[in-house]
Amino acid sequence: MSLLDKVREAGVIGAGGAGFPTYVKLSSKAEYILLNAAECEPLLRVDQQLMLMFPNEIIRGFKEAGNLVGAKKGIIGIKGKHKEVIAKLNERIEALCLSDFIEVKELLDIYPAGDEQVLVYELTGRVVPEAGIPINVGCVVVNVETALNIYYASIDKPVTEKYITIAGDVPERLTVKVPIGTPIIDVLKLSGIDNFDDYSVIDGGPMMGAVLNNIDGYITKKNKGFVILKKNHPLIRRKSTNIEQAKRVNKASCEQCRMCTDMCPRYLLGHNVQPHKMMRALNYSLTDIEDVKIAQLCCQCNLCELFSCPAGLYPKSANLYFKDKLLQENIKYKPVNNEFSPRKSREYRLTPSKRLIARLGLHSFDKMAPVKEVDLMPELVHIATRQHVGAAAIPIVSIGEHVSIGQKIGNIPDGSLGASIHASISGTVEEVGKDFIVIRRD
Ligand code: SF4
Ligand code: SF4
Repeated sequence: MSLLDKVREAGVIGAGGAGFPTYVKLSSKAEYILLNAAECEPLLRVDQQLMLMFPNEIIRGFKEAGNLVGAKKGIIGIKGKHKEVIAKLNERIEALCLSDFIEVKELLDIYPAGDEQVLVYELTGRVVPEAGIPINVGCVVVNVETALNIYYASIDKPVTEKYITIAGDVPERLTVKVPIGTPIIDVLKLSGIDNFDDYSVIDGGPMMGAVLNNIDGYITKKNKGFVILKKNHPLIRRKSTNIEQAKRVNKASCEQCRMCTDMCPRYLLGHNVQPHKMMRALNYSLTDIEDVKIAQLCCQCNLCELFSCPAGLYPKSANLYFKDKLLQENIKYKPVNNEFSPRKSREYRLTPSKRLIARLGLHSFDKMAPVKEVDLMPELVHIATRQHVGAAAIPIVSIGEHVSIGQKIGNIPDGSLGASIHASISGTVEEVGKDFIVIRRD
């Protein structure tokens, strides 16, 4: 079986959040393969620790990915502050005789250093065009845990586990490896909190993660971390604001100062993202569709809403409002140019992570979350058939069937984009539904 087929069979998807099937990404041809090791979401601590624990495997997986896309160079983008990790990577790259191919480049400690388009620019000097993706400028980007999973796929080990950071206002901050399909509540309780009545949980990082409406879900391949905060923490209050509330507040107070636009990371790369214009359009009910199409260029990094706006308004939500409207009407932004260059002011307008963390009210929780071996043995796992971009996997097991850990239990539908799924524990299939396959432990 070719490596690309192995990656497909192993159910590898982008572990950085979006969940795009990796075999599709690696089917392209590119000049550069880039490793996104920025881990720029505050408080999350998965990738930096994986690189210390599995440097050989990650480097090998990254090199394999580079071979698949025919890259002439691989660049690892990691924040310069991670000195120990950088030293370890450089040492292993040399020991594996890969110095001619792989280079480690240090990134500034800014947010969002891990935005794919920011990363591509910082590592190659190329700007991805508006509404484009890295391959448009000859780059393919993979995340650290994805590179590790590519390596595991090469030795026929499918994706059955996930590394997760549990952080926030909790007695114990830690990073753990858990079987996919584990109840989220079991993972959250590892923080030392048993009763979550007074807490809210952000699924993912504090910037882009959403507040969970209920904590009764199950771990998927896309989970990266949970940030647990008291219900009355200002960040929870802001993130819980719905679009109607945001619209009301926006209308009352926007002074059109442009800070949201001037600090927007995509605007600074030269794109025409201008959230202050979306605020104006929303507040004055301006309806010219041409003027609001630029809302589609927003990557929802949330910087404008959680950092840049001096009045504490919701410019990202204004963008989102128009994004949704355009989607409903099937209208797409078409770039006029194909070549973009960063704005001259960019270097003075980057957002330091430390200031961002302070602004979010998370300074006292910005601590290590060390990897800890835990004995999490869920009695039942609920493995979602759709944990990725594309079609849900089609179950290939029946109720009552015994399955072993790593056994494939769902296939990609013919001719569709998708990812296969595997048993994360050995046991008996108890339920086979459209959305989940449930396995009871032996
Ligand atoms: S949303 Fe905030 S930052 Fe943007 S123009 Fe209005 S007041 Fe200024
Ligand atoms: S969320 Fe705001 S800062 Fe981020 S890309 Fe969108 S408009 Fe720009």
